[in-house]
Order: sequence, then structure tokens, then C-alpha cells
Amino acid sequence: MRRKETTCGYCGCGCGIYVNMADDGTMLGVTPSYNHVVSQGKLCSKGWHGFAFVKDSRRLSSPLIRQSDGSFREASWEEALEKVATGLKAAMTGGDNTNAIGVVTSARCTNEENFMLAKLARAGLKTSSIDHCARL
Ligand code: SF4
Repeated sequence: MRRKETTCGYCGCGCGIYVNMADDGTMLGVTPSYNHVVSQGKLCSKGWHGFAFVKDSRRLSSPLIRQSDGSFREASWEEALEKVATGLKAAMTGGDNTNAIGVVTSARCTNEENFMLAKLARAGLKTSSIDHCARL
């Protein structure tokens, strides 16, 4: 068995966890980090048991690009990121892009990831249109 130290992404507390994996990489479960400054060896029920979404068949596992007929097709990360970059460049006005570009982050991101996305939005994309779904 292997384990990887990471941050619980279920809420903004950011508890320290270990993801326990079989040798083939299959996720077996989660245990708390006893030395983590926030959780100090404790997790709530979501942290302990809320990892089934990792194996959910409805979870996206590759980028999807919307076609002109409204359907989606799978794409590589390189193609998807190129398409996003092209679209963002076309939308940028040269000034304040608040009415042209919006950024939606996720409650599943860590505080640090959401902080970086806010910086990217404000400093890089020059938009203050930022929202997230952290209304759990
Ligand atoms: S273990 Fe519970 S309190 Fe800690 S980050 Fe996860 S959901 Fe939040």
C-alpha cells in the first residue's frame, strides 16, 4: 500500500489527509494527517467517507469540446487548453474585461488553488467577474 499526503477538498477548512492506495494506484480510503496544523489528526464524516466521487462513472476524465451542433467530443488537454487560450485572447479588450470574461472556481479546490485562480482572474485576465460554488 502507498499513501499520498494532500488536502481534503470538501470544504474551506483544508484538513490534512493521506490518500491510501493499492500498489496499482486504486484508491482505498483516506486517513487523517496527525501533524497537520488544521485537522490535528481529526476529520469530519465528509473527509473520512466522502471520496466515492473519485470513482463515479459520471466524473469527467478528459476535456470535452462543444461542437457546432451542441454535442461534445473528447479532446486532448493540449487541444482544449489551446482552444481556451484562443477564446480568452479574442475576448480580451485591452482594458477591463469584467464584462467579457468570468472565472468560476470550485469548492473542491483548496484555498490556495482558489487564491491562485482569483489572482489569475484579476491580474492576468483583468476581470473582477469571479464566482465559486462553495455554498455547500
Ligand atoms: S475533513 Fe471535513 S472539515 Fe476537514 S476539510 Fe474535509 S470536509 Fe472540511
